[in-house]
Amino acid sequence: MAICSDGSTSCKMNPTMNKLYDLIIIGSGPAGLSTALHLDHLAHNLDLTSLILEKSRHPRPKLCAGGILVEGERILAKLGFDLCEVPHVDVTNAYFNYEGRGLKTPFLSKKPIFRVVRRDEFDAWLANKARDKGIEIREEIKVQKVESFDDYALVKTDKGDFRAKVVVGADGSNSIVRRVVEPNPHPHVGRGLEVITPDIAEIPPGKNKQKASFDFLAVPQGISGYVWNFPTQIKGNAMRCWGVYDSNIVKVEKRAPLRQVLAKEMAAHGYDLNEYKLEGYPIRWYEFANQVSIPRVILVGDALGVDALLGEGIGPALGYGAVAATAIQHAFETNDFSFASYHGRLKRSPLGGALKRRTFLAKSFYRLKSARLQRFIWQRFGWLAGLLGVIFVIGWEKKK
Ligand SMILES: Cc1cc2nc3c(=O)[nH]c(=O)nc-3n(C[C@H](O)[C@H](O)[C@H](O)COP(=O)(O)OP(=O)(O)OC[C@H]3O[C@@H](n4cnc5c(N)ncnc54)[C@H](O)[C@@H]3O)c2cc1C
Repeated sequence: MAICSDGSTSCKMNPTMNKLYDLIIIGSGPAGLSTALHLDHLAHNLDLTSLILEKSRHPRPKLCAGGILVEGERILAKLGFDLCEVPHVDVTNAYFNYEGRGLKTPFLSKKPIFRVVRRDEFDAWLANKARDKGIEIREEIKVQKVESFDDYALVKTDKGDFRAKVVVGADGSNSIVRRVVEPNPHPHVGRGLEVITPDIAEIPPGKNKQKASFDFLAVPQGISGYVWNFPTQIKGNAMRCWGVYDSNIVKVEKRAPLRQVLAKEMAAHGYDLNEYKLEGYPIRWYEFANQVSIPRVILVGDALGVDALLGEGIGPALGYGAVAATAIQHAFETNDFSFASYHGRLKRSPLGGALKRRTFLAKSFYRLKSARLQRFIWQRFGWLAGLLGVIFVIGWEKKK
């Protein structure tokens, strides 16, 4: 039986390409590339014929602040890659606060809290790592539809049709593949607005510029998220990345316009938002109730969802790749392409645990919409919030 992307079961089969690939991955962002690289690492002996289809060409722009936490770096290290090869800025101080006052990290360690990359550079670097391993990426091919049949999945693109035993949807928040997996998903889409400015802040002697902040000042204004301000670089020039994230996880009658909240915060630091290009993109967060696969087709990365609390998706995208690779390996070893156990694997994985905890925290924390309460949490009990963060939010990917 075929399941079509419109949810029906009566779509026509018309493959114009006869080759049957073992695996086709749609999208060469961190989730798609991580899936391919983990599979190469885990199941090299299976000698799978695989292909990644990408609608753009690397290096391609991707709206993202580019903050990569230690988990992402650890996953890359386990694959044998050093994130420091990519141009980046180390964030040595991070502030989690309310109206500029609150928790300052690190507590003890002098290591960077996270690193900030530009996504065009990071994704192109990772794509080259995949190519070095012999993984084929065909660029400028846009997938239009995916259909699942008993013996294969059909991938329809603007350059013809492809067939594969397994298809991985790694095509981001606006995933086409998700339409065949989950025709009626639970709505859980947030939004991120972002702007890049030169770094004009005057830093007193002895202080460094590598500080990032996450300010929850937006919560009392009905926004289930925060305003960020990260250091970044473009071609070696010091820049800053500003943005506002709204997970939209708590339903409210009225919320302040995201642009207005961001403009106000930037103005407080001497920046006029009107002078810069503001861009926005949907951020989908992971909802346990949603379906993650159908026979022969699975989803990874933003196609499934990021964490709702912080909207952090690069490390999770790399983590999804690891889980998906074990599920695909299992499918080929057992000749069972139902992917019936993929959701269970995901839930039991450290990533699944982290996503679950973060979504729970987001649902609870973003409900606390009183300014007084937010001030109290961050300015009086920031240390406790930090401790809970260390225990429940970060550190899901172990070193070894
Ligand atoms: C404003 C903003 C700021 C963010 N900041 C951070 C941050 O600081 N840190 C962090 O960890 N996360 C951040 N995120 C989230 C992060 O960007 C995503 O979670 C991450 O990119 C997910 O990776 P992915 O591989 O799943 O999807 P993507 O990176 O979106 O990659 C999907 C790929 O699929 C390709 N594609 C899409 N459709 C098709 C198609 N039909 N056919 C073929 N190819 C297709 C795309 O061209 C793309 O290359 C941010 C997101 C936003 C919107």
